[in-house]
Amino acid sequence: MEFVDRLLTCADCGGEFIFTAGEQLFFFDKQFKNDPKRCKPCKSKRAGVGAKAGAGPAAAGLSRTETRTECSACGIETTVPFKPTQGRPVLCRQCFQAKRAPSTGALVTAAATVDMVAGTTGDPGSVGAELLAVAQAPQA
Ligand SMILES: [Zn+2]
Ligand SMILES: [Zn+2]
Repeated sequence: MEFVDRLLTCADCGGEFIFTAGEQLFFFDKQFKNDPKRCKPCKSKRAGVGAKAGAGPAAAGLSRTETRTECSACGIETTVPFKPTQGRPVLCRQCFQAKRAPSTGALVTAAATVDMVAGTTGDPGSVGAELLAVAQAPQA
């Protein structure tokens, strides 16, 4: 497979930038299907805005513990007031609320969710504990 430098147009600033043969090889290697959409300055500008949240002290822009992440259910970008544990599902406010809907029909779902959450986490005072309280209340 041979690669030649290509000229692409940045989706952000509209400027042209070079998609080098080396980068194309890298993309091919990683099996990325799409060409890069932005030039390097725009890409790093975006990265500085949010993608690196939680990456360490560099994320000083976020003063609170709000962490940017993706909802495990619907996939939209959301912020959560805690640090998500790796491999643990994180829900946006909408999905979270949908899961703990206070109707009788949702009770079974809530209980099942508790099992799931309780099985994957050990920290109390988290989403799991709150769901547990909701699920147990009617039986007490
Ligand atoms: Zn650009
Ligand atoms: Zn969601």
